[in-house]
Amino acid sequence: MGSAIQLSNVVRNYQLGKTMVQAARGVSLEFQRGEFTALAGASGSGKTTLLNIIGCIDKPDAGRISVDGKDVTDVPLHRLAGLRNQYFGYIFQTFNLVAVLDAFENVELPLVLAGMPAKQRRERVEALLESVGLANHRHHRPQELSGGQRQRVAIARALVTEPLAVLADEPTANLDSKTGADIIELMASLNASRRVTFIFSTHDHHIINRASRVIWVSDGAVREQAPAEHAGAPLLRASGTNP
Ligand code: ADP
Ligand code: MG
Repeated sequence: MGSAIQLSNVVRNYQLGKTMVQAARGVSLEFQRGEFTALAGASGSGKTTLLNIIGCIDKPDAGRISVDGKDVTDVPLHRLAGLRNQYFGYIFQTFNLVAVLDAFENVELPLVLAGMPAKQRRERVEALLESVGLANHRHHRPQELSGGQRQRVAIARALVTEPLAVLADEPTANLDSKTGADIIELMASLNASRRVTFIFSTHDHHIINRASRVIWVSDGAVREQAPAEHAGAPLLRASGTNP
């Protein structure tokens, strides 16, 4: 079994007037199933660019990408939507829930689109709402939920199709630090209990500390930090505390 996702020499340039921004400068990365990985870096470093390429939302200008062992670099844009639904769950910093649907219906939506029978859908959605702590909020619409609760709905929605990987672009950026920490703990526990693969971007050091693998993004290039000895272990120690 190969790696879940592989990027080889990925380049992505944006033309901005007369200047060209090199948002990804030949990035090579491999992700395995079950990882809990942070893409860490300052604003503008290239995190969203990489996540969008990993998640088949955007295509590289050069380089290759393979997902679940299949090279998808040359899949035409109109067929990428199918790949996205099949392989990925997405979590955004702005939650992106459907305002007129309640929590249950928001989580259920990807399964409706996938054509799953109603009874199966209900079982799966109820179990997930339970595991994100929202069993009692199933009839609440997004505007009737707090930011943290909205992000829990978004997490349940991202997991409901049992994707190869869940991609979260700054999932805590619109939350206060306590709520943000709770959201990362929830993701970590879903990673541990259900082996859900998470790749999330952040510039918050408390969040970076919870990752079991950290990829630093800087000016369109990546630098890997040595893996932790066990999943969930803090990678960044205060200086002077190393044995
Ligand atoms: P991050 O998510 O780390 O903040 P991004 O991947 O969004 O970084 O952006 C990386 C670089 O690419 C930045 O310099 C940004 O200004 C530029 N960029 C991103 N998207 C576009 C775009 N659509 N057009 C032009 N430049 C862009
Ligand atoms: Mg970004």
